Amino acid sequence: MQVGRYEILEIIGRGASGQVARAHDPLINRIVAVKLLSSEFAQGMAREEFIREARVVGQLSHPGIITLHDMGFEESSSTPYLVMEYVEGQPLEKLISKGHIPYARACAWAGDVASALAAAHRKGVIHGDVKPANILISDEGRVKVKLTDFGIARLQNRDASGAPLLGTPAYWCPEQVLGKPQNARSDLFSLGVVFYEMVTGQRPFEGQSLQSICGQILSATPLPPSHANPSAPAALDAILGRCLAKDPLSRYATCDELAAELYPLARRKAVIPQALTPPPVVATHRRLRLF
Ligand code: ADP
Ligand code: MG
Repeated sequence: MQVGRYEILEIIGRGASGQVARAHDPLINRIVAVKLLSSEFAQGMAREEFIREARVVGQLSHPGIITLHDMGFEESSSTPYLVMEYVEGQPLEKLISKGHIPYARACAWAGDVASALAAAHRKGVIHGDVKPANILISDEGRVKVKLTDFGIARLQNRDASGAPLLGTPAYWCPEQVLGKPQNARSDLFSLGVVFYEMVTGQRPFEGQSLQSICGQILSATPLPPSHANPSAPAALDAILGRCLAKDPLSRYATCDELAAELYPLARRKAVIPQALTPPPVVATHRRLRLF
């Protein structure tokens, strides 16, 4: 199958907004990812908005954000497609489903997502759908974390107003639940939910129905992560407390601020649970005074 000049090799993902394929670009001779979007973007205002959004997202240049190479419209159906950098790896969603991520690695990855979001926010772009399925973990290269699905999710959310709510509500922020405008601190909240899940293997806001999940997002205080996973340092409790604050003004002001708190923890060695920790502070202090 051919889309524009791109030869489709295999479908690698199917989701709410369309299909993603591994493809070959014969002109440049490289492997790319082609995302065929749903036909709702093919006509009228949606098409205009889509083009505008792709132009904005196309300006983003950051190692932690999937690069948009090209876009086009299929000849027969006018269905839009995006051509992106191809990432050999797997979505974070798959890794989390196998259990929690060691906390130092979780801090490094969450720090990288925060840095990528900060770069987008500086350009006025809000992601709007930060969740493990939209974070790809690369098998190769120095940069492991690649954020995808930029802007498109936001367009979809906006277009879906009045229609039944779609997507994964577990990662929504309180202002999204309430139908209020979202800003950079909304992405930061959703990243907090992802980070909590990475560290503990559990989602902070879980429920059997949309209503109960939304109720929790609006009013529940999740178990501190160091209680849910004793190997996680207590410092994470305060960091996640600020990410998951109900009032956006109580969260970190920027994702850069969050990244700056996470990176030092990414370098720390494993923490010995408190019950097993000998009292080194007093002993060291005494020894120091002796000499
Ligand atoms: P959707 O709108 O369906 O959520 P996504 O852009 O999140 O679409 O992609 C769906 C899946 O396709 C991802 O979870 C991932 O497995 C795969 N995928 C998406 N983009 C890429 C890419 N650039 N490189 C490799 N795989 C990708
Ligand atoms: Mg997605």
